[in-house]
Amino acid sequence: MSSTSISSLAVATLGTPRIGPRRELKLALESFWSGASDEKALIEAGIGLRTANWARQKKLGVSVIPSNDFSFYDQVLDTSVMVGAIPAIYGRTSGPMPLATYFAMARGSQGDVQGNPHDAPRGHAHLGQSVPAQEMTKWFDTNYHYMVPELAKDQQFRLVSRKPIEEYEEAKALGYQTRPVLVGPVTFLKLAKSKDAGFEPLSLLDRLLPVYVEVLRELASSGAEWVQIDEPCLVLDLDEAAQNALRRAYAEIAKAVPQIKIMLASYFGSLGENQDTAFALRVAGLHLDLVRAPEQLDDLARLPADRVVSLGVLDGRNVWRADLSRILDRLEPVVAKLGKDRVQIGPSCSLLHVPIDLALESKLDAEVKSWLAFSVQKIEELAALGTALASGRKSITKALKASDAAAAARKTSPRIHDAEVASRIAAIDEAMRRRASRFEERAEVQHARFNLPAFPTTTIGSFPQTHEIRKARAAHGKGDLSDTAYKTFLQNQTARTVRWQESIGLDVLVHGEFERNDMVQYFGEQLLGFVFTENAWVQSYGSRYVRPPVLFGDVSRPKPMTVEWWQYAQSLTTKPMKAMLTGPVTILNWSFVRDDIPRSQACRQIALAIRDEVIDLEGAGAGMIQIDEAALREGLPLRRSEWTTYLDWAVECFRICSSGVRDETQIHTHMCYSEFNDIIDAIGTMDADVISIETSRSKMELLDAFRNYRYPNEIGPGVYDIHSPRVPEVTEMTELLKLARQRLSDDQLWVNPDCGLKTRKWDEVRPALVNMVAAARELRAAG
Ligand code: GLN
Ligand code: ZN
Repeated sequence: MSSTSISSLAVATLGTPRIGPRRELKLALESFWSGASDEKALIEAGIGLRTANWARQKKLGVSVIPSNDFSFYDQVLDTSVMVGAIPAIYGRTSGPMPLATYFAMARGSQGDVQGNPHDAPRGHAHLGQSVPAQEMTKWFDTNYHYMVPELAKDQQFRLVSRKPIEEYEEAKALGYQTRPVLVGPVTFLKLAKSKDAGFEPLSLLDRLLPVYVEVLRELASSGAEWVQIDEPCLVLDLDEAAQNALRRAYAEIAKAVPQIKIMLASYFGSLGENQDTAFALRVAGLHLDLVRAPEQLDDLARLPADRVVSLGVLDGRNVWRADLSRILDRLEPVVAKLGKDRVQIGPSCSLLHVPIDLALESKLDAEVKSWLAFSVQKIEELAALGTALASGRKSITKALKASDAAAAARKTSPRIHDAEVASRIAAIDEAMRRRASRFEERAEVQHARFNLPAFPTTTIGSFPQTHEIRKARAAHGKGDLSDTAYKTFLQNQTARTVRWQESIGLDVLVHGEFERNDMVQYFGEQLLGFVFTENAWVQSYGSRYVRPPVLFGDVSRPKPMTVEWWQYAQSLTTKPMKAMLTGPVTILNWSFVRDDIPRSQACRQIALAIRDEVIDLEGAGAGMIQIDEAALREGLPLRRSEWTTYLDWAVECFRICSSGVRDETQIHTHMCYSEFNDIIDAIGTMDADVISIETSRSKMELLDAFRNYRYPNEIGPGVYDIHSPRVPEVTEMTELLKLARQRLSDDQLWVNPDCGLKTRKWDEVRPALVNMVAAARELRAAG
C-alpha cells in the first residue's frame, strides 16, 4: 500500500497487541509457568513477538513505530517494576529483578516460585512462603486489567528495570528508530493505591520524577528522539492537585531532558475541562482521541503553534472498518491549516484493545467480514490515510473505492437493518417499561404463590463446570459427540444437580447452566445480529484473553433460547425452578458493539429480545426469572457528568426486558460487585423483585446503601464468597446474616452465595451450600 515514491503523513500506532496472532505469548508464558520451558525460551518468545510486531508495522507503512509497548504481563506492572515500586513481601532486590519476582507480583506465588525451579532467584523474601498477587482492576473503561501499583507513605523510587531502554535498543539494533512508550507518572500515581490510611500516592510525584528523568536521559543517550508518554488520566475528572501534578511533571521533564520530545497521549475520551492544562503542558506533541471525542478537532486552533498533534482518528477500541472518505473530509482542512509537519495520525488509543488480524478468520461470514478491521487492517487504513493526506486522494484510489463500497454496503445491508426491529423499537411505550403493579402488590401475590419460608435459600445459577463438561462440549464442538448424546449428557448433569439441590433443602432451585459456554456467548449465538470469531483474541489480563462477540446488526430472537432447558429442569422437581438469563446491558458491555447506532439503541434491541424470552418463560410456567446484569456497573462512563445518561438507558433496558410479566412472576437480578452507593438510585429504579449481590467480603457494609435508600424490594446479599475455595462455616454465615438483619428487614432477605458456582469444584460447593442452608434454618428457628 505504501510506496516509497509517494510521501505520507506521519503514521503512528501508539502500541500494538502483544499476544501474537496465534496467541504465542500465552503459550510461551503458560509453558514457562508450568515448568515445561525455561526462562531463556520465554525471553526468546518475547524477542520473536517484538521483532514480528516491528517488522509488520514497518511493512504496513507505520512511520512512528512504538517500542516498550510489549509486556510479559502488564504495562502498569512493568512501570511499578521500572521505578522500583515493589512491595517488601516480594523481596527487595538490588540489581535487575528476576522474572520470578515479576510473576509473583502478577500472579502470586505458592512459596515455590512458579515456573522452572532452576530460575528460582536466591535471597528473595517470597521464596519459601506464599505471597498474594498484586490487586488487579480494569484499565479505565476497557476490559483490560492492570496490576494496581501499591505505594507506601515512605515509598522510595529507583530505577530497577531498564526495560524501556533495552527494548528501544533491541529495536534499534534491528534497524528501527522507535518511539518508546511509557505510562505517565501522573496516571501511574493516580492508579496506585496505598495501605497507609488517608495517604494520597499523588503526593509522591517529586520522588517519582527523578526516575522518569533518568529513563528519559538514558533513552536520549541511546538515540531516542521522541518518547510517547501515556496520560489517559487526562480524560478523567481531575481535581486541582492532579492538574498541578501534570503541570509540575512536564515542566520538570522539559527542564531536565530538553533533548527528548514528548508525545503526550490522552485517550478514551475528551480532555474536557482538562484541556487548558493539557494544551499548556510543555511537551512537543499531544495525542487526542477523536473517535470518542470528535469535537476536539475544532479546538486545535487553540493549541500552541509549536506542538505536533497526533490525531486519533481510527477506533482503537472497536473492530469496524473505517470510512476513509469521511475521515479525509474531516482531516484535509485540518492538515491544510496546521501543515503536514505538525500532524501525525493514529488510532484513538493503543491497538492493544483490538484483535490482531482479520485475515485469520476463515469461517466468518464474508459480508460481515468486509465491514471489519482488526489491528493489521487498521494499520493499513492509517497508512492509506497518511498517504492521501500527504499526496492527495488520487494516490489511494483503490483503497478509497473499497472503503466507500464497504461503507455503502453496511449502511443498507438487510443483514444489519431489520425493519421489524425498527418498528418494535419505535413502539416501545411507557407500559412496556413498567411492571403492571407496584412492588408491594406484586410481593403479596408472589408470597402467596410461592409460600417460601423466611430467609429463602437459592443460588446464582451456575454449578461447577467440570473437566468432564468441558470435555463433552469440546467433543460436541468437534463433531465427535452427536447432538443427541451431548444433550443426554447435559440432561444427566442437570438432573443430578437438581436432585442434589433438593436433597440439601434449597428452597429455590436452578438448572445449573451446564449447556452454556459463557453467559454472553450462549445468548449471542442464538440471537440474530451477532457473529463470533475464531482467532480474534484480546488480552483481558496476563495470559487470559477473551474473544468478545461482534454485535453487527439489528438484534432479534428467532426462537426461544432457554425455555426447553428450563422446562426439563422444572419437570424434575416440585420446588420453584428459577430461570436464568443474561441481561441486555451485560450482553452489550461484553461485546464489540456496532458503531452505526447509539449504544443505547443497540441495547434496547437486545432488551426486546430478552423480553420475548422472559414472556415465553412465563408462558411455559416459570414463576421466577433471573436476569443477570453482572456488567451494568462497569459500563459507567469515565466522567461523572455522563453517568446519568448511561444509567437512564441501562435501567430502561432492564425494565423493558423485565416488565412484560404478570404480578405473580418474580423477577430476580444479580450483580457481581459490592459498590452500590453511587448507583443505588438506578438499582432502585430497576425494580427487580429480588436482587442478589456480592457482599461476602465487605461485612455487609455495602447494605448501608440499600438501607439509606430505604430500598423496598427483596435482597440476597451473598453470604458465601465463591471467589475462594474456602468452605465457610455455618456461624460465619449466620454472623453475616445478623449484620444484614441490622440493615434490612427480615422479610426482605434471601440467602445465597455471592456469584455463580461455575469456577468452583463440587467438593467445595457441596459442604458450602449445606452450611448455607443450615445457616438459614438456624435463623428461622431462632425466629
Ligand atoms: N447466572 C450466572 C452464573 O451463575 C451469573 C454469573 C455472573 O454474574 N458473573 O454463573
Ligand atoms: Zn456474579
